[in-house]
Amino acid sequence: MMIETGKTDILIIGTGGAGLFAALHAKQANPDLDVTLAVKGLVGKCGCTRMVQGGYNVALAAGDSVERHFMDTIVGGKWLPNQDLAWRLCEKAVERVNELENEVGCFFDRNPDGSLHQKAFAGQSFDRTVHKSDLTGIEIINRLMEKVWAAQVNKLEEHRAIRLIRAADGSGLAGAMLIDMRRGTYRYIAAKAILLATGAGPTMYRYHTPSGDKTCDGLNMALDLGLGLRDMEMVQFHPTGLLGGPDTRMTGTVLEEGLRGAGGHLVNGEGERFMFGYHEAGERATRDIVSRGIYQEMREGRTTPMGGVYISMAHLGPDHVAERFPGMVKRCRDCGFDLAGGLVEVVPTAHYMMGGVSFSADTSTEIDGLFAAGEDCGGVHGANRLGGNGVANSTVFGGIAGDSMAAYVKARKTWRDADQAELDKAVAEAEYPFSKPSGDLHGLREALAHTMWDDVGVMRDAAGLERGMKTVSGYAKALMDMGVSSQNRAFHMEWHEWLNVKSLTRISEVIALAALGRENSRGAHYREDFPDTGALEESTNTVIHAKGDKLELSLEKVDFSIVKPGESLIDDMAGMPSPIVAGGISS
Ligand SMILES: Cc1cc2nc3c(=O)[nH]c(=O)nc-3n(C[C@H](O)[C@H](O)[C@H](O)COP(=O)(O)OP(=O)(O)OC[C@H]3O[C@@H](n4cnc5c(N)ncnc54)[C@H](O)[C@@H]3O)c2cc1C
Repeated sequence: MMIETGKTDILIIGTGGAGLFAALHAKQANPDLDVTLAVKGLVGKCGCTRMVQGGYNVALAAGDSVERHFMDTIVGGKWLPNQDLAWRLCEKAVERVNELENEVGCFFDRNPDGSLHQKAFAGQSFDRTVHKSDLTGIEIINRLMEKVWAAQVNKLEEHRAIRLIRAADGSGLAGAMLIDMRRGTYRYIAAKAILLATGAGPTMYRYHTPSGDKTCDGLNMALDLGLGLRDMEMVQFHPTGLLGGPDTRMTGTVLEEGLRGAGGHLVNGEGERFMFGYHEAGERATRDIVSRGIYQEMREGRTTPMGGVYISMAHLGPDHVAERFPGMVKRCRDCGFDLAGGLVEVVPTAHYMMGGVSFSADTSTEIDGLFAAGEDCGGVHGANRLGGNGVANSTVFGGIAGDSMAAYVKARKTWRDADQAELDKAVAEAEYPFSKPSGDLHGLREALAHTMWDDVGVMRDAAGLERGMKTVSGYAKALMDMGVSSQNRAFHMEWHEWLNVKSLTRISEVIALAALGRENSRGAHYREDFPDTGALEESTNTVIHAKGDKLELSLEKVDFSIVKPGESLIDDMAGMPSPIVAGGISS
């Protein structure tokens, strides 16, 4: 099989907020650097940063502080975040949002006095979410994309990374193997530094929000390289995904939390407003609590015709709802629902992965030459991501990665030689489906989605998790007996779906194993057989490594490097806040 080759100083895999910021910072640090972006989709048109609705958390206003933002992040994350990473997030978000405004050119919404408008978001003790109406991500990505184009970086669009390649001498990373999806050919790019920024994405669940290009490929590549994935059981479900039926990709997409924040009611199939039976904050409880409430109603059969519950806004006045939530009203109308005046069917939907690759605050990893940033990484959010901390995470650490890689490359004059066996393996594994008869790939992915939803979803117990692991491992085996129907590799979407399902089944097994290993309930992870939080001082992170074909789980004690449970960096937060949505909204 012919492999085209190329060389660059810095290879960035993924072009969301993390990837684009990294490119910008690397070029700012040294305009002479050769920087290459490789992306499964088109630059600026794929990934989830573009989909950000609600906004960006940053402590700017008088009375707010980095310490306060940090404490909200630690408490929201149920004391599982890596505190050095969380601190770096909150501290650098201030610098990054100024950069977004003054250098990148984003126009965010403002107060009448000219200061940035900051809105309330769930689980936060201060209104700190900067936004551009409810389309913040489009503003950020469009402006970033223009800057990155002007900075003259190389672009490999519709190029899928399939394997990170070690150096022949074992000293670190040498490059990455890609598939040029347009032509169906292989391309090896040697790079002095590589950024993994593929954005993870829990798209293995029956209902999910992230963009379809995200199938956990980066996490899969990190496992192959021997890196640990931490806190992978922490999959965040957003309570109100649109339930438009099985035949529309709109099913699972987010109806923003502002609807509940504004006073929307959740009503079951029997017409009862049920959330106060689960929590005193009713619909305004945090997303994990509301997701569990909805799930319980569904499990007990009090459902809508399509199997979810209703969100009802009409009591707030249809005209008011239409004016305040035009995007949401339109989205529902497209699926045949009247949000402003009627009822809309909703269901919890897998939204974000708090877990991911273990990395350091300078974005370096255990593998020399490999850096990681954004949703591919674990550690920043612990057991729960606060709404507004996701895009802050990707842009803060993306920028840091650009700085770190530029400094790293300065000291590293030459490229490493690739390990030939790794190159051969990359191609052999990608070619595998061409050696098998085609099968029901779509059915396999559907089955995976149902198993993850039923057994490794919103509420978990040992029996379900064990069953889920066994079933998913059966799907992984079934995939290896199944191939693709055409040998023509150009724009071969069935082939790419096969590769997607391969990544998704493996990472699904990782999630199930980590969930089985955490015998307590924290944030997004709820074990019906272990409903207690467990002693906060004894908190552990789960870490999973691949050893050959096997996955191995270990538990590592949390290092409370800045603040210990029961303590606070600010006077009025000792003991920590309630899980009530502060007036608000998040995504
Ligand atoms: C609907 C929605 C609304 C959201 N709203 C908010 C919000 O209001 N506030 C907030 O803070 N967060 C929000 N989030 C979360 C936020 O979008 C993410 O946390 C963040 O943008 C992730 O950035 P990233 O750069 O890590 O990944 P992404 O922006 O997702 O980019 C990943 C990139 O990797 C590429 N890629 C994937 N696999 C490969 C491969 N094998 N080879 C090459 N390229 C690959 C993709 O094509 C894409 O370009 C929202 C998410 C969703 C889905």
